[in-house]
Amino acid sequence: MARRRQLYEGKAKILFEGPEPGTLVQYFKDDATAGNGAKHGIITGKGVLNNRISEYIMLRLQDIGIPTHFIRRINMREQLIREVEIIPLEIVVRNIAAGSIAKRLGIPEGTRLPRSIVEYYYKNDALNDPMVAEEHITAFGWACTHDMDDMVAMALRVNDFLTGLFAGVGISLVDFKLEFGRLWEGEEMKIILADEISPDNCRLWDSKTSEKLDKDRFRRDMGQVEEAYQEVARRLGILPEAGNGDLKGSETMQ
Ligand code: C5P
Repeated sequence: MARRRQLYEGKAKILFEGPEPGTLVQYFKDDATAGNGAKHGIITGKGVLNNRISEYIMLRLQDIGIPTHFIRRINMREQLIREVEIIPLEIVVRNIAAGSIAKRLGIPEGTRLPRSIVEYYYKNDALNDPMVAEEHITAFGWACTHDMDDMVAMALRVNDFLTGLFAGVGISLVDFKLEFGRLWEGEEMKIILADEISPDNCRLWDSKTSEKLDKDRFRRDMGQVEEAYQEVARRLGILPEAGNGDLKGSETMQ
């Protein structure tokens, strides 16, 4: 099959034109970046694992009625998704203090927050994805209050569901980032979950030991990054116990 036309290349994924109008192919790379691209590395097999983990989570979320862009996995590194108009916001939900909130507010990492906290960041690499308030979002027209209500309600449902899902496999969901997109069906617009949900954009700690099983291992040069992603997949029951023999494979379309 001929290679499809590339539409966009991001830090960890590439988007290709899909086989039908309104669809795209999302390709997961092994590239990892931190500090808005200041640090770059390759985590062997990450793309294969994130493709699988994100597929699994998006399907579970669809089961509970959350609309997502995911259609189906095509092969080891690619999935078919619905084309949406991405809303230029990162919606972060936090349960336990870590990362930027720990630093910004001086809260020791690992402190359970009094309740789940939702934060918004404006997706803009040149500005380093600054944190914004709903005031900025509605004033500048990135989303209206109704869109915000939809996104926050979905983000909190995702948080409740994923907290339980991960707790069931001995993992604490510390925080995560979501992106949403607008899907047009005639005159009707619906907001759906987009991007990916994987250890690249969630903080996942072992419930007993607090060992980090996410991208912080790369950001903080802790080593054993591939192993951590594999462990998440293994616990979710989506990686054969036998190991990672196929993680480097299949760069090609079927
Ligand atoms: O860095 P910070 O503590 O604000 O990150 C909160 C959560 O959002 C983390 O799970 C992190 O992986 C995710 N995140 C992301 N992409 C960004 C910034 C944060 O996936 N650009």
